[in-house]
Amino acid sequence: MENADWTGPVSERLRCCVCGDDTGGAEDYVVLQVTAAPSSSVQYLGAHATHLNGVLAPGFSVEVHLM
Ligand SMILES: [Zn+2]
Repeated sequence: MENADWTGPVSERLRCCVCGDDTGGAEDYVVLQVTAAPSSSVQYLGAHATHLNGVLAPGFSVEVHLM
């Protein structure tokens, strides 16, 4: 599977949670898994890694390794 088609744990690509744009074909697409303590439910958020890095705290970064 091409990296540009990778969807992670969900069946289709999610919009970037930072810029709101479609992530179809993006080579730096990442999926975030979000959980909250009192519940076992899981939420997935998609993002462009470059946009995610723009909003992360200093010292944190997301790298994309192309397979
Ligand atoms: Zn984005």
